[in-house]
Amino acid sequence: MKPVIALVGRPNVGKSTLFNRLTRSRDALVADLPGLTRDRHYGEGRVGNRPFLVIDTGGFEPVAKEGIMFQMALQTKQAVAEADVVVFLVDGRQGMTPHDKTITDFLRKSGRPVLLVVNKAEGMRYTAAVSDFYELGLGDPYAISGAHGDGVHDLVQEALDKA
Ligand code: GDP
Ligand code: MG
Repeated sequence: MKPVIALVGRPNVGKSTLFNRLTRSRDALVADLPGLTRDRHYGEGRVGNRPFLVIDTGGFEPVAKEGIMFQMALQTKQAVAEADVVVFLVDGRQGMTPHDKTITDFLRKSGRPVLLVVNKAEGMRYTAAVSDFYELGLGDPYAISGAHGDGVHDLVQEALDKA
């Protein structure tokens, strides 16, 4: 079985952009894999000679009790349950939000290894991008730009090492 990486974070942090970069030019949907549900967005990627599966999730809205946002939260929980490692994306331009803390609590309870990744960090100093997020208690954040590709290769290597 290839290791499974789940991309988790509140809406608009850049999960789908990163997913597209990780799976680009591959025939991304891998709906036939045994043991994986079909209603989330699965793709296949590779760094060096290491193949992996990646799950994009619709977002994470912990407050809503029903409707589309509730469905997305559910989707995220299922993706985390299937994952060997979670890439938890936050937004370095927007900084910390209360939802980031709620998601952190949920991820901690999941028991999965988590990499905290500050996205949209292109053109920012590392310390400026990440300093907000140390208080989440998830260790040294990675700073990447999913849109430009900065830091993505190293991040995936690290994620696979933890899977
Ligand atoms: P999702 O809701 O988490 O899947 O986020 P999307 O991938 O749809 O991206 C949300 C917005 O953030 C879009 O306008 C993207 O173009 C933008 N975005 C994604 N990645 C980056 C990045 O690395 N840098 C910047 N500046 N913007 C980004
Ligand atoms: Mg998305």
